Amino acid sequence: MGEEAVAAMLPFLSGRFANPSGAHRFARDARRAVDEARDDVAAVVGCRPGEVVFTGCGTESDNAAIAGAVARHGGRPACPAAEHHAVLHAVERLGGEVVAVDGAGRVRLDALAEALDEDTTIVSVMAVNNEVGTVTDLAPIAALVKDRAPGALLHTDAVQAASWLDLRTVWPSVDALSLSGHKFGGPKGVGVLAVRDGMALDPLIVGGGQERDRRSGTHNVAGIVALAEALAATDAERSVEVPRIAALRDRLVAGLVAGAPGTRETVAPADKVAGSAHVLIAGIESESLLYLLDDAGVCASAASACASGAMDPSHVLAAMGVGRTEAAGALRLTLGRTTTDGDVDLAIIAITSVVATLRERTAARAKTRSLA
Ligand code: PLP
Repeated sequence: MGEEAVAAMLPFLSGRFANPSGAHRFARDARRAVDEARDDVAAVVGCRPGEVVFTGCGTESDNAAIAGAVARHGGRPACPAAEHHAVLHAVERLGGEVVAVDGAGRVRLDALAEALDEDTTIVSVMAVNNEVGTVTDLAPIAALVKDRAPGALLHTDAVQAASWLDLRTVWPSVDALSLSGHKFGGPKGVGVLAVRDGMALDPLIVGGGQERDRRSGTHNVAGIVALAEALAATDAERSVEVPRIAALRDRLVAGLVAGAPGTRETVAPADKVAGSAHVLIAGIESESLLYLLDDAGVCASAASACASGAMDPSHVLAAMGVGRTEAAGALRLTLGRTTTDGDVDLAIIAITSVVATLRERTAARAKTRSLA
């Protein structure tokens, strides 16, 4: 977490630990803090404060949008095949349409046009892909939805977008937008669903009627305050951080391509966010690579971090048309505000030497087998 977010949340874990739904002065103090956080989040998203609903995480925000729209309006949802599982599984569970993507992971407009009809209630298209970093321009998708399914809502999972894109340029195209605190220097276990005024969703969680009946449950005041603080800091730093991190990412990828022959960048830099360095390394199994890299001080992943470390082939790469053999050598490195030049130097040296070691082992095994 960013230092400013930690500092912002600490008072609400001790002296200011009141429930904002109460009627006394301490409750009013907590309620004021939540209201200020709501104002700050709205300013960064470009929406009205009343359109901000605080949730328990990005997954909940995605589920609340999709299940909430179908519960209220009936019909069925639709999403591209490269969505995060928080969207994909929610759509599949409701018998929705899963739409083909192109080689960069963007939804194919022809396939989307075919999938939409008057029975479509909500379309969910991510702003930034969490595995390969591809950015999707939502304006043409909004136009297509309006044309083919005029009654449908457009939701975007912007969980991976907040650090890299000005959300004020995303919000005008959509009716609902999900964020998650831990993706921009805030705490885990707190999220946002921005829902445009007049867009009716049934609540996913019912109970005490908090968040104007849109999401019941006692507010996580410390988490909400810290999320807002982190989002404001990210927004303020974005114009300086994006070019700095993009330069680091380009140097990292160039170093890997030069030092580990047979490596290719999965998605071109112009199509993705600055912090994403996803590569495919020929003749390598990610599982052994990640194991040795961890020992060498490089923390990386192969696909999404959500599947309990499982090494299943990535559904995103499969949807993009990457074959199983090539996908087995996927390496997903993420850079952020704490990443330095020194980290990039270390990563290039560690990854290229681990790849060389693994290739030597494979060659030695093949030689032993041929001798036998
Ligand atoms: N959507 C995307 C694109 C993500 O990357 C993630 C988490 O990695 C989520 C949703 C889920 O967010 P959370 O972990 O807050 O539930």
